[in-house]
Amino acid sequence: AQTDGSGAWYSDSRPIMGTNIRTEIWAESPTLGLAAVEAVMTEMERINQLMSPYIQSSELSKINRLAAHSNVEISPELFDLLQLSIGLSSETQGAFDITYASVGYLYNYREKQRPDEQTIHQLLEAINYRHVVLNEEDKTIKFKHPKVKIDLGGIAKGHAVDNALAILTDMGIEHALVTAGGDTGLLGDRRGRPWKVGIRDPRHRDKQAVVIPLENIAMSTSGDYERYFEEDGKRFHHIISPQSGESSYEVQSVTIIGPKSTLNDGLSTAVFVLGVQKGIDLINQTRGYEAIILDNQRRLHYSKSFEAVNAEN
Ligand code: ADP
Repeated sequence: AQTDGSGAWYSDSRPIMGTNIRTEIWAESPTLGLAAVEAVMTEMERINQLMSPYIQSSELSKINRLAAHSNVEISPELFDLLQLSIGLSSETQGAFDITYASVGYLYNYREKQRPDEQTIHQLLEAINYRHVVLNEEDKTIKFKHPKVKIDLGGIAKGHAVDNALAILTDMGIEHALVTAGGDTGLLGDRRGRPWKVGIRDPRHRDKQAVVIPLENIAMSTSGDYERYFEEDGKRFHHIISPQSGESSYEVQSVTIIGPKSTLNDGLSTAVFVLGVQKGIDLINQTRGYEAIILDNQRRLHYSKSFEAVNAEN
């Protein structure tokens, strides 16, 4: 820990949720600082156990095993996140759709595997958020189509970051950063100066395309460089267009800045699929949220209020 007067910064990073979780926390005492770091990591692990498709006992895995056959009862937390996800689908013309996984699960980026055209064609009709029926009263979920699978990779990390920040606030923490892969949430500033959060250059691992000073807000980036493989010069990556069942080639990266990490996370995936024009239009209509898009020609595009800020500076 790095001391400064009566308090110090406590930081750690660990691999959880298939990504790197990193936190920096200012605390008045070592007891609080270490407990706060531990609380962040414990929350990430808890969400992973609940929502990971790779853990057989997760609620998400249970849904994917059973919901095509019967109503599956789930926790209020997962229910609420599913409801939010489906709401986001209708607000984004279906660009964000957790049923992308009906085809998306057939991609294995590490093993360089992808479904063939015929398989995609057969399963494409299973991608449709309208197949997912949520029953508010008894907190159950059911799929209306036999081949539906769901996945929360586009929103779970954002949710985990929001939860972690709420836990830190309850502990009395006022300055903190929590990052889960592409999703960052910030409490306060970095004591007298803003946090600086970078957007990676999509084609250069160690280069930043943009660095933004921020405080008391959250920011998420979705990029075509997180999970991908190349075949004959074509990039197969992890953001899937629900219309085609294939990687979306509209842009290289999308960053959303706004108060809720959960929404940033979902919107960054949605705007990635929508592309520059429709994506910027959507964010211009979403109060409190801003977008930075890096298109295929590596040009930057900003949402309206951001454009105004840039013009001033
Ligand atoms: P990460 O933080 O892992 O980069 P992103 O926020 O960029 O995640 O979202 C990409 C993830 O979202 C994919 O790995 C996948 O799990 C999921 N996903 C892919 N396509 C869609 C889609 N059209 N709608 C919802 N989720 C998606």
